Amino acid sequence: MQTSFTAEQLRQPDIAEANAELRKCVHCGFCMATCPTYLISGDELEAPRGRIYLAKVLLEEEKDAPRPEVLAHLDHCLTCLSCTTTCPSGVGYDKLIAIIRRRTANAPTRPAAKRLARRLLIHTVPEPARLRPLARLGRFIAPLAKPLLNRRREWRPLAAMLDMAGGARPQRPLFGDYPPLAEGPGEGRRAALLTGCAQGVFGRAISEATLHLLRMAGFHVVIPRQAGCCGAMEEHLGEHARAVRRAAANVRAWVEASAELVVIDASGCAGTVKEYAALLKDDPAMARNAVRLAENAFELSELLAPLADALPWRAPRRKRLVWHAPCSLTHHLRIADQPKGLLERVGFEVLEPAEAHLCCGAGGANAVLEPEIAATLRARKLDHLHAAAADAIASANFGCMRNLASEARLPLFHYAQLLAWAAGGPDPFLTANRRMPATRDGGACSGGTCGCAT
Ligand code: SF4
Ligand code: SF4
Repeated sequence: MQTSFTAEQLRQPDIAEANAELRKCVHCGFCMATCPTYLISGDELEAPRGRIYLAKVLLEEEKDAPRPEVLAHLDHCLTCLSCTTTCPSGVGYDKLIAIIRRRTANAPTRPAAKRLARRLLIHTVPEPARLRPLARLGRFIAPLAKPLLNRRREWRPLAAMLDMAGGARPQRPLFGDYPPLAEGPGEGRRAALLTGCAQGVFGRAISEATLHLLRMAGFHVVIPRQAGCCGAMEEHLGEHARAVRRAAANVRAWVEASAELVVIDASGCAGTVKEYAALLKDDPAMARNAVRLAENAFELSELLAPLADALPWRAPRRKRLVWHAPCSLTHHLRIADQPKGLLERVGFEVLEPAEAHLCCGAGGANAVLEPEIAATLRARKLDHLHAAAADAIASANFGCMRNLASEARLPLFHYAQLLAWAAGGPDPFLTANRRMPATRDGGACSGGTCGCAT
């Protein structure tokens, strides 16, 4: 793509980076066939090629407050990165959209309700101490407030936020220091487990399952209180400085806990932690440790797959699963087979749905901010998942699971829960709640086999 930045503009590092990516695009349009927002709208400005063109114009004109309709096309992007997997020219669309998001983070041309929803997301989701009381309030006021908010299209993000916050009883996040439960390939190495923000509050059963697996593999697991949200939510919303502060806080907490490696069971967060070296490159106090920990950060299946033969599996589990591959796993981390391979290794049959490469609608913060797009993509995804006639849906990212759970007719599990069952943990089918990928009563421990202190 031809660009016409001035020499002065190219001295700005983000414009220079964007220019390099824009110039790789040869307009071939291959990316459009795999873009979910294009597939449901048929509008080229809802496709990567159209968004790349919009980005070029915005950057050339240095407009940080584009017209509302232009901003909407860019905001609709799910950051699923399906286009980066498809693009034959290697256009770094992820870099381009990140630059645009930072420049337009506070654009006054966004509708007021959306600006409010973005502020609420930034100030609550990454903060469990705020998210838990909000979730309690959400459960209380949702029956009254949601119908009112849903009456006006522009207020629907706030209704979706109530759904997100109030869909399940909030739980106490997991913290502590957990020695190995068995001798194993982990050899007592200290592994920091990231339990995240929303998953920490609504999906504790997933963290418990991962904790169990790691301890059974011989790792000494640490979950420092000072570590928390990875920063992905803030980065998605263009709040780069906040994301950098989160990264620094996590690195500091893991260094203080003497962690040798970091394990993340939410694929969306794993992608962000692996980028900590880049996020903290300008922080002299943190940069060296950020590089070390980012190099030793593993999405759970990356760590377990090479160790699978040495893990203490119990009886094989004979259930049919249909696999929902999160975009963060497939298109960002480029992990295709490890979680499915592990599930098959312990006896599960794992089926692939049609359109497995397409986003479920939860990409970025779109489950809340773009509820209509999210609902259309969720329905399309669930049609394919339900058609597989499986016993349950298995996935690898809490955000996708929350999004799908609201309409799924099958139990939904994180693959860690299913593997932990095969390693002597609780049977997740006994506590399955079809609306929520968590324990049925929300607050209780799902079985106690992890030995967690709470
Ligand atoms: S990231 Fe996903 S939604 Fe955004 S342009 Fe690429 S394929 Fe489309
Ligand atoms: S596939 Fe790549 S090169 Fe082709 S239009 Fe899309 S971004 Fe440009």
